[in-house]
Amino acid sequence: MNFFENELNQRLNALRGKNLFRELRRVDSPQSPRIQIGGQTFLNFSSNDYLGLANDPILKEGAIRAIKKFGAGAGASRLICGSLAPFHELEEALADFKQTEAALTFSTGYAAAIGTICALLSKDDIIILDKLVHASIVDAARLGGAKLRVFDHNDLNDLEKILKWTDKSAKAESGKRKAEILIVTESIFSMDGDDAPLREIAGLKNKYGAWLMVDEAHATGLFGKNRRGLAEELEVSGQIEIQMGTLGKALGASGGYICGSRALIDFLVNRARSFIFSTAPVPAAAAAATAGIRFVQSNQGKARCNSLWQRAKQFNSKFKIQNSKLQSTIIPILIGDENKAVEAAAKLREQNIFIPAIRFPTVARGAARLRVTLTAAHSAKDVSELIRALKTLDIGL
Ligand SMILES: *Cc1c(COP(=O)(O)O)cnc(C)c1O
Repeated sequence: MNFFENELNQRLNALRGKNLFRELRRVDSPQSPRIQIGGQTFLNFSSNDYLGLANDPILKEGAIRAIKKFGAGAGASRLICGSLAPFHELEEALADFKQTEAALTFSTGYAAAIGTICALLSKDDIIILDKLVHASIVDAARLGGAKLRVFDHNDLNDLEKILKWTDKSAKAESGKRKAEILIVTESIFSMDGDDAPLREIAGLKNKYGAWLMVDEAHATGLFGKNRRGLAEELEVSGQIEIQMGTLGKALGASGGYICGSRALIDFLVNRARSFIFSTAPVPAAAAAATAGIRFVQSNQGKARCNSLWQRAKQFNSKFKIQNSKLQSTIIPILIGDENKAVEAAAKLREQNIFIPAIRFPTVARGAARLRVTLTAAHSAKDVSELIRALKTLDIGL
């Protein structure tokens, strides 16, 4: 045992030495614009609860109703003990929201990525990722074992270069089954808040006969006329074979989803191991997510979304940080050095503002940043307070 503890302590000290050590901070309140940590109240600019739904009465009541009717736990995997009605209601609501034939939900977005990518590809296939895609997709690509290629962030020329190479390599190995090619990108990138050129990427995937999977974790509920996501805004939904996202961000609940054709969903039910070999989420989570989706589709949801964009405009009128044409709710304040980022976050906490210093391995080494997220639940006064506090920091704003 001693050797084990010693080894781990050495590894932890190495992290501390590089200012990469992380620890949990206990919060004694719901997620909302104000959170309580250690008896102190902080203005919270760190959560992905973009529409302020995580603590909304509509979602809570949905969850409570589901608990009363269906209990606390799901009993087993949905293929084993039967599939509780709240999951079906959720998947119908999702497919209706996203305008796809069908939908399947997983316990998390992470599990959705792993289950889907590993089910669709085998080692003779090729997976092509944007350099900045989320860890869940990177892990899925590695676990799935397909040939992995990475294109520079949002770089269409680099993507096409790789697609040309796959074309040749597919021909060279003629006689075998045709290798499938899957391109995966996010729509709004989680740590940079910028947007992918989905239309052009869809054009390339058509030209080279590839498949396209788009992770809308940070766009679902926020972009497009009906708030379905960036694919709706750019009118390319119909060209994306696999639409992925999470129920845990703007939708305010918990879980991951895949939307697409009936064939895709039937295939995943049969082949996605993170779906098959895992106990179904609690029915309360599904019911809360359903309430979140319905809220987003309502006029109230539209109004909530509009106030979020007003907050974003207010913030962006003061700083020129965004590297995107679109407004984003994610504002990366790049600092670079890990020590300086941790210091800046600590200084903000002294002013009762909670913003995490995002460091390796979430972003590249030397690309540490403060990641500010705005939500519809913040008031204009909250955002003014944030702007004031950021100006006190010596980080070149
Ligand atoms: C959060 C996130 C996920 C994972 O979703 P969870 O439901 O939190 O597991 C996947 N992709 C991106 C881009 C994310 O930001």
